[in-house]
Amino acid sequence: MDRPGKVIAVGRNYAAHARELGNAPPEAPFFFLKAPSTMVGDGDPIVLPFDIEGEVHHEAELAVIIGRKGRRIPAAEALDFVLGYACANDVTARTEQKALQERKLPWFGGKNADSFLVLGPLVPAAAVPDPGALRIRCLVDGAVRQDGTTADMTHGVAALVSHASRRLTLHPGDVLLTGTPAGVGPLRPGETVEVAIEGVGRIRNPVVLEERPA
Ligand code: MN
Repeated sequence: MDRPGKVIAVGRNYAAHARELGNAPPEAPFFFLKAPSTMVGDGDPIVLPFDIEGEVHHEAELAVIIGRKGRRIPAAEALDFVLGYACANDVTARTEQKALQERKLPWFGGKNADSFLVLGPLVPAAAVPDPGALRIRCLVDGAVRQDGTTADMTHGVAALVSHASRRLTLHPGDVLLTGTPAGVGPLRPGETVEVAIEGVGRIRNPVVLEERPA
């Protein structure tokens, strides 16, 4: 798809994933932003910056693409504002994110680098009758790392669209990343990472290390 508008991502939206990183699942959804220019597509390399500290993790996520402008969208009407869905990988510099978190600083640095958002082709909303009942998986070199269901989201798609639009107008082309199930883990250069969502498709990306400037 084209470069998205704003990319609003939700943190800790699957209780088992929140716990695996030592966090309590939040009562209300909380959001962070990814820069639209971090986006790459299916087949493009995920480039690990040569000077990254520690681990970079995969996060398989269902992406929601907004089709209609709206603010303070009621949850009961929220799905009418959805144009479609896509597979996403919210690539995360986990070690750097944790270091920021410990210093009570925003996550921005841990979530934003070129190619740290993989977004697959859009599947029209009409083709996905229930976004809250999809198997979602992540495989690295064919080995299953994450195997969950969107039924385990703490806040479902309608609630997320409603919450995200309480203060910000959502515009066509904006993207919501809905959180990741348990099983996140490191990506290493030379590996291939795949996100597969039932009824939505799959994205596959090679992982490479950025060349150090001479
Ligand atoms: Mn995420």
